[in-house]
Amino acid sequence: MSNARPLPLYAIGLGSNRRHARHGDPRAVLLAALAALESDDIEAVDASPIIASDPIGPSRRRYANAVALVASELSPPEMLERLQEIEASFGRRTGQRWSARTLDLDILLWSGGAWSDSALTIPHPAIAERAFVLGPLRAIVPAWQHPLTGRSIRQLAARLTRPKPVDRKASAH
Ligand code: ATP
Ligand code: MG
Ligand code: MG
Repeated sequence: MSNARPLPLYAIGLGSNRRHARHGDPRAVLLAALAALESDDIEAVDASPIIASDPIGPSRRRYANAVALVASELSPPEMLERLQEIEASFGRRTGQRWSARTLDLDILLWSGGAWSDSALTIPHPAIAERAFVLGPLRAIVPAWQHPLTGRSIRQLAARLTRPKPVDRKASAH
């Protein structure tokens, strides 16, 4: 039987800045996490290259980051729950935000558009400020339009890397 209705797509951000006893360094953690994402109800469509990026927040360890594009019938809250189960299975301790962690899985974009409740905001609110998110996103979905601003990922990435004028008046002439 053919499935006429396309499955919803999710762009999932992956980050790690801690070794895992079995999987190894953060890069290996992300490869294992990409494999763990695939399941009966989550289909892997594409994955970006894995990049190394500087830490944000109090931790001083470098991050490995990537973005996976997956197709799934799961609702956004169901997807978040699944991602949190996978984080837990990689030994992520809940607690301090931005602390060293084995695995962080965030929902960046959803083809359904925007979602907002007390536990979940889609698009992820920090997308436009994070090069480690926009770089990998651009590698796989450059034309995806941010549902709230209408700007494509390519445009958001270009805005982030463009040097900003220090003084608006001085840059006007
Ligand atoms: P950041 O969101 O700035 O990347 P973080 O990923 O380190 O920070 P976490 O500790 O992983 O933050 O998650 C904190 C809470 O964020 C989660 O419990 C979850 O309910 C909430 N959250 C809100 N929106 C999202 C989203 N789009 N993807 C994942 N978690 C989200
Ligand atoms: Mg995060
Ligand atoms: Mg998170």
